[in-house]
Amino acid sequence: MIIVLKPEAKKKDATEILKKISSVGLKPLYMPGTERTVLGALGDERVLENLHLDSHPLVERVDPILTLYKIVSREIHPKDTIVKIGKVPFGGKQFSIIGGPCAVENRKQMIDSAEAVKKAGGHCLRGGAYKPRSSPYSFQGLGVKGLKLLKEISDMTGLPTVTEVLEVTDVEHVEKYADAFQVGARNMQNFRLLTALGKSKKPVLLKRGMAAKVEDLLLAAEYIVTEGNPNVILCERGIRTFETATRNTLDLNAIPYLKKHTHLPVIVDPSHGTGLRELVSPMSKAAAACGADGIIVEVHNNPKVALSDGKQSLFPHEFKNLIKELKPFVEAAGRIL
Ligand code: PEP
Ligand code: MN
Repeated sequence: MIIVLKPEAKKKDATEILKKISSVGLKPLYMPGTERTVLGALGDERVLENLHLDSHPLVERVDPILTLYKIVSREIHPKDTIVKIGKVPFGGKQFSIIGGPCAVENRKQMIDSAEAVKKAGGHCLRGGAYKPRSSPYSFQGLGVKGLKLLKEISDMTGLPTVTEVLEVTDVEHVEKYADAFQVGARNMQNFRLLTALGKSKKPVLLKRGMAAKVEDLLLAAEYIVTEGNPNVILCERGIRTFETATRNTLDLNAIPYLKKHTHLPVIVDPSHGTGLRELVSPMSKAAAACGADGIIVEVHNNPKVALSDGKQSLFPHEFKNLIKELKPFVEAAGRIL
């Protein structure tokens, strides 16, 4: 429920109403605005009726939040939330770019790839130390050794990092070495993991599950935010459809839909969304055009020998061209790169 207070309501009146909301077992939210204060009451809204807030002298109106997700909804928080990975903002005026290999493989591969990302003008570095692979025989990642490498190269280049966290027991390690957690498509509904990440303050890049509806993605984000971590970046990375020409079908409909319904930043992963290197640049431009706040792109110093996702990874010169060609699209969408 959203409770809009009258302009003359003071902070102490809000505090009093928030106490009442807590007393019936609902989660209170305090959202002071420039003109008036808005309060939220989350939980089983039927109990709120007993408080008769709509007849309170300082309450202007009480509106239900019609969506299943609440805190991540624009209804409760109309302004865009800006989430920072290191110092890099997502969700503001800047269109931010994360680049790097699918997996951390070795020192030379990571240094060369990170330098390529930096030289081209990328803002953050990606690279998986824990890899969720479809086959148990594929490269599974270097684990903590990979995290340490990522941190060393982040210090060397100044690029903040994002890396996947696969399970709750890895959270403390990833938190120690990386600037942001990535929750992969296969883990989007691992509710224990989402809850654990909600207790961290580090940002979470939450990827849409390959068979998840947009509403499922927003509810997954709600799990993190409701635990106290507001720093969630949503990521559209393609869904499974009947189409087999591309690895996934990049659902760009989701971008303007998400931007309308949530205040959280939204980025696009054209690498996993298409699975094909030659489609990464056109879909990045499309992402900028439809209002995304950034992209995450796989870039490898030598994709031909990559241990994972080589077919969709860009060569360094392709990543450089991508950023160059992207600029006018970003600017046409009213953003800066
Ligand atoms: C990745 O980013 O390399 C990855 C495994 O992504 P997704 O979870 O979207 O498949
Ligand atoms: Mn990958």
